Amino acid sequence: MKLDPFIGGTSVAPSSGRYLAKLDPRSGKQIAEVADGNSADVDAAVEAAQQAFVEWRDRRPIERGRLLLKVAEKIREHIKHLAALESSETGKLLWQSPFEIETAAQYFEFYGGLVNAGHGEVIDIGPNYHSYTRREPFGVVGVILPWNSPLNQGGRAIAPALAAGNTVVAKPSEETSASLLELARIAVQECGMPAGVLNVVLGTGAETGVALVKHPKVRKVAFTGSVRAGREIGQIAAERIIPLTLELGGKSPNIVFEDADLDAAVPGSARAFTLNAGQVCLAGTRCLVQESIHDVFVEQLAKAVAKIKVGPAEDAVMGPITTRAQFDKVVGYFDVARKEGARQILGGSALSSEEGHGGWFVNPTIYAGVTNDMRIAREEIFGPVLAVIPFKDEADAIRIANDSEFGLAAGIWTQNLGRALRVSAKLEAGQIYVNEYQAGGVETPIGGYKQSGYGREKGLEALHHYTQLKCVTIRI
Ligand code: NAD
Repeated sequence: MKLDPFIGGTSVAPSSGRYLAKLDPRSGKQIAEVADGNSADVDAAVEAAQQAFVEWRDRRPIERGRLLLKVAEKIREHIKHLAALESSETGKLLWQSPFEIETAAQYFEFYGGLVNAGHGEVIDIGPNYHSYTRREPFGVVGVILPWNSPLNQGGRAIAPALAAGNTVVAKPSEETSASLLELARIAVQECGMPAGVLNVVLGTGAETGVALVKHPKVRKVAFTGSVRAGREIGQIAAERIIPLTLELGGKSPNIVFEDADLDAAVPGSARAFTLNAGQVCLAGTRCLVQESIHDVFVEQLAKAVAKIKVGPAEDAVMGPITTRAQFDKVVGYFDVARKEGARQILGGSALSSEEGHGGWFVNPTIYAGVTNDMRIAREEIFGPVLAVIPFKDEADAIRIANDSEFGLAAGIWTQNLGRALRVSAKLEAGQIYVNEYQAGGVETPIGGYKQSGYGREKGLEALHHYTQLKCVTIRI
């Protein structure tokens, strides 16, 4: 499979003529060649998006919405194919990918129905004036994506950007380009989206990603990825004075109080850090457990997690780490944990390759006896590795939870409604889940506090982030 950029409604060869090897995380074998793009590809894509902009912006919103609804419908028609592409690139298990593709469809459905919700307001400044606001698109929006949920995160940024009347140049991760390319092809060739409204450029962050953020005709960038890259992009955006949405990493606390329903809290906390082999920005990877139930909870959690089948088999629950570099990083933290003196309860190793799978699988890993100053409690590992930290009381839980550079999400398990409300208000995180980790849908806004980023995706909130506000005042 050879993957080329999709610019102005067609596939074009990369101007560098170079390709990167894409390996299957389940086997380590090469499955595709991905165009190694550069600034010339970005120029062509931004030009196509710029040319398509005025006609797209001036369409009646309800017509833009109808087209997005059609994209949602077509994504569902192609769900098997898109899911298979994502499984081969990310290593996601075959049962898992369709959920991700369905979520992508829901973004197009949700924002397709919301096109008119981004309206302005009339402001009363007395009888001699008529003053009102309009929400207008920026123009060409650059969307840069990571590898852990390509189409899900792609839809999350692209659908509201298009609904608001912007055109888009998207850059998927060089590790996961196929499903987004296919989405762009479907939108243009099967749904009648005008050429140039959605373009996909390929390649590395250092070359294609940087060129996109630097391009003088890109008027806003929505970035999902690491803090490191977010910071670099932020520096370019500061020079250019363009707005950014930054959806970055996390080290989210998942707090289990002594009054929690353990029948729900145990499987919920297991899922919070093992879903997608822990490669989820929102993952609950610091489990804060009240001292009075600590030992019982850890024992029950270890039993539940030990049952999770890892590997390439169809009935497995946890698949591989998506990239070799990320696999090495996760495995490296097992040494860090040992040196820091954490007590290993489970895992702490890669899956043996004796069966000849050759893939990048790690066993779900639980460390107890962790203190919040250890690296395994402070750094985002982005793998199925849990740090269990005991706490005394509510105030102690809040203090430990907030003692982090990150602030993406937090979980609370309690049967006391007053406690749930009090603690929710005091946690420094953009998403709080009570009695179910990662609750919510395309309708609920997501975004970070602190180094987890700024701006919001999802929900009505995101639609506003893809518009700029104009105020018109008329003397009557
Ligand atoms: P990454 O930052 O290395 O790469 C993300 C994307 O940015 C890729 O397309 C990459 O090519 C590009 N890129 C890298 N450096 C760049 C630069 N200097 N300029 C422009 N583009 C650049 O992240 P990753 O390893 O692909 O993904 C994992 C990270 O993403 C984790 O930290 C995770 O928490 C985060 N993430 C966040 C969210 C969220 O919604 N908050 C969701 C998923 C993943």
